[in-house]
Amino acid sequence: MAETKQFRAIKGTRDILPPDSAVWDWFERTAREVFESYNFGEIRTPIFEETRLFARSVGQETDIVSKEMYRFELHGSSLLSAIRVELFEREAWFHNPQAGSTLDWLIRVFAGELRDMMQRGDLARTPESVEAAEKLEPLGQALIRDQKEFEAKKDHADLLEDRFNANVQSVRHLIRHLDLGEQVALRPEATASVCRAYIENGMHTRPGNVKLYNIGPMFRRERPQKGRYRQFYQVDVEVLGQSDAPGIDAEVIEMLMEFFRRVGLKKTKLHVNSIGDKNCRPAYVELLREKLRQVKDRLGADSQRRIETNPLRVLDSKVPEEQEIIATLPRISEHLCDACREHFSQLKRELALRGIQYEENWRLVRGLDYYTRTTFEVTAEGLGSQNAVCGGGRYDGLVELLGGPPTKGIGFAIGTDRAILSIQEAGSAPKLPGSGVYVAWMGQAAYPAAIGIARKLREAGVSVELPAEEMKFKKSLGLADKLGARYALILGEDEVASKTYTLKRLADAEQMKLREAELLEYLESERRGTRA
Ligand code: ATP
Ligand code: MG
Repeated sequence: MAETKQFRAIKGTRDILPPDSAVWDWFERTAREVFESYNFGEIRTPIFEETRLFARSVGQETDIVSKEMYRFELHGSSLLSAIRVELFEREAWFHNPQAGSTLDWLIRVFAGELRDMMQRGDLARTPESVEAAEKLEPLGQALIRDQKEFEAKKDHADLLEDRFNANVQSVRHLIRHLDLGEQVALRPEATASVCRAYIENGMHTRPGNVKLYNIGPMFRRERPQKGRYRQFYQVDVEVLGQSDAPGIDAEVIEMLMEFFRRVGLKKTKLHVNSIGDKNCRPAYVELLREKLRQVKDRLGADSQRRIETNPLRVLDSKVPEEQEIIATLPRISEHLCDACREHFSQLKRELALRGIQYEENWRLVRGLDYYTRTTFEVTAEGLGSQNAVCGGGRYDGLVELLGGPPTKGIGFAIGTDRAILSIQEAGSAPKLPGSGVYVAWMGQAAYPAAIGIARKLREAGVSVELPAEEMKFKKSLGLADKLGARYALILGEDEVASKTYTLKRLADAEQMKLREAELLEYLESERRGTRA
């Protein structure tokens, strides 16, 4: 018997099912409402982009780019890439004429795939790829001939080996610089894509600040645990434009906290910091590096590595033994240049003006390279060590780094999975109305009437469950109960004959007889009452 495999969602990904999905929908809908009240508009960007976009913006040395991205090649040329790697990385091919037929086989697979892809239009017909497609197979033949001659007459082995090596070299030469398709990655975050879109669509010519939000999944290859997934969801906000007024930072933070208030996220804590800019941060980073080198022996392996690659990240460390040492390190607030110090104190004034509670946290540096000046994070309860529900900050200069005009920017990303987890654990998720009316019909004469009234109720905005098969009333009402319907609409032959409906409220079994117009009016006013 064939073994039947039980398919499962990929590790670190999960399904979001009703009724939970209604909470997700409500969460995202509330975000849209709040953001639109601050005059933000939605941007939807692709889920994958060129790998280089993320490497350039998030930073090559960050965890996200160096180890967490899901990368692949467009157009499925991974076969070509794999063979190329094989031909290049194995020095053992050289000086080994007996590998001739194996090489020939790899070359034929490569050349065949290359031709197919050019034919399908999946790979550009560059002069290099056309040449490779033409010349590779004859070279494969030559390698087989070398192998045969080598095996036949061992006396000229040296000469044959030289010829063989030269042929291998020619193969490599032909394929070394071939463009085998774009390197792309699933997006690990949204800011890079939004900046790319801002540049590509010339959005800098729009009046005022460009205020955008983006909602969707992100992908990072991390160790899955509570509140940490490989496909997770973010609600992302960005403001791009010419101004870096601290009032923009404060308003973005105000909007964030207002959103959290509306969705009932409890015990949130807002942490803010300034990490300086290109004028003052480099000197601070050097100072930090100096101090860290002095205490290197007392730090763990990760922090030791970061002293050289990204010393700011040491401040993020959660390793208990390192906390005491970190507390003694120099603080950026004492090393900000005048402009950054002024920006930060104005931000704090702006936050106070809006009545926003915050805590200054000098260790908040964030793990992405593009941040300058303002950084902030919000933590919430019930999440254990994965308690950050939002991270954000200013990224002046990022657009320029990506090839666009000089532009200021600030934004944040809310982790939807964690925020919803926290809301649910605190028991503050709303009770969202389920199905409203279950149509319990019986008798073939009642069926057309049931279809008709279901359509009218649905048009009036009522959620209706209409069973497709006839059932005894008792069974039908039992199912209505289990489905959590508020009402059962009873429709039998009597009702059809008298043109009335029996509406039964399932919570208290109260029944009323209504004509169609009365029924519609009743349910509609009821709906307005419960949803308002
Ligand atoms: P953390 O320190 O928790 O790893 P981060 O600094 O990597 O977070 P950001 O890149 O700033 O996170 O993303 C913003 C928010 O997205 C985080 O505050 C968090 O709520 C959420 N988030 C990040 N990574 C994940 C993940 N793997 N699974 C679920 N949510 C995540
Ligand atoms: Mg992380």
